[in-house]
Amino acid sequence: MIYLDNSATTKPCSEAVEAVTAAMTSSWANPSALYGFGLDAAKQLRTARSKVAAAMGAEPDRVFFTSCGTEADNWAVSGAIRRMGKRGKHIITTAIEHHAILRPMEELESRGFEVTYLLPDASGAVSPEALASALREDTIFVSIMMVNNETGAVMPIEQMAKLTHRRCPDAIFHTDAVQGFLKVPFRAKALGADLISVSSHKIHGPKGCGALYIHPRLKSFPPLLLGGGQENGLRSGTEATPAIWGFAAACDAVSATFRKDILREKELLEDCAARLSAIPGVLVNGSHQAPHILSVSIPGVPSQNSINILQDAGICVSAGSACAKGHRSHVLSAMGLPPQVIDGSFRISLCRDTGKEEIDALVEAVRSGIVARFLK
Ligand code: PLP
Repeated sequence: MIYLDNSATTKPCSEAVEAVTAAMTSSWANPSALYGFGLDAAKQLRTARSKVAAAMGAEPDRVFFTSCGTEADNWAVSGAIRRMGKRGKHIITTAIEHHAILRPMEELESRGFEVTYLLPDASGAVSPEALASALREDTIFVSIMMVNNETGAVMPIEQMAKLTHRRCPDAIFHTDAVQGFLKVPFRAKALGADLISVSSHKIHGPKGCGALYIHPRLKSFPPLLLGGGQENGLRSGTEATPAIWGFAAACDAVSATFRKDILREKELLEDCAARLSAIPGVLVNGSHQAPHILSVSIPGVPSQNSINILQDAGICVSAGSACAKGHRSHVLSAMGLPPQVIDGSFRISLCRDTGKEEIDALVEAVRSGIVARFLK
């Protein structure tokens, strides 16, 4: 199998598998228990938090584990609104966010909040100028993703966070960094965002774990889950130690080589983009700035046909985002691409394990399996 759907999920690395196994076979105590076995688990939890924090460039006590990136995103939105909702009613986000942000935004609109959805340019990215013209005195919350999961467009988050805080000093700035974490270098402490969401299974960790970074300036951030007071009272629920140990191990393993890995991935991706767009009838959507995501389109050939043909050649790719099955991509629509282009689009996403021969096989399958058969 040639797996080119790494933005949907990644193969767990051996370090993560070992850590999950250890958490389920030897260190499975409840970290809140007060005997030695539990205290050991609590110590391992502290170590895991430090590893994730180191990979994010964050203070360990500001990293809070969640069950996934979606939960981190939902918590960021609901917490920010509960903290700021009495000060104003205006929120800014983008039209290209993941549904983990867009759905909570729709819910806020139904409760009387006004949401401005910034549009991307032809590259697929939302510009700081678009944000600048949308900020208002009553803006209380801004949520802008770091890397778009369908096109690989990268948003200048540091600049956007700074701009938001200069113009609206009390507003909370969140970034969904699920596709940016360990792909686009950043340090949480220096980024300027108040809230940062990440997810384990996108970086070779297990599913069932994510984290929300909460900047020290947000001391009393409202919790999403209430209960036993875990995660310093901010996220109750017995800690998912297997997933957390695995996430931490993946952070350690991936961050050790990621700067070298992303250069190699970027080279492969550029080569892939150049070779595919040289095939008559194949288009590249947007400018794929991130090292691992490429959106391509073969207008006239429905996405599902391309996916099926590639699957017959042993190659896994996806139609836009895995989470928006069967719907026309809201991201490509927001970029203003024509319906024929959108309906013929699919996403190729790489990881540190992707090899050149896999890209060669993809290019050949597109050329001989799709284009030669459907576009004569
Ligand atoms: N945000 C972005 C940009 C994503 O790509 C995804 C998943 O694809 C999520 C959030 C949700 O993450 P999770 O699958 O961990 O809930």
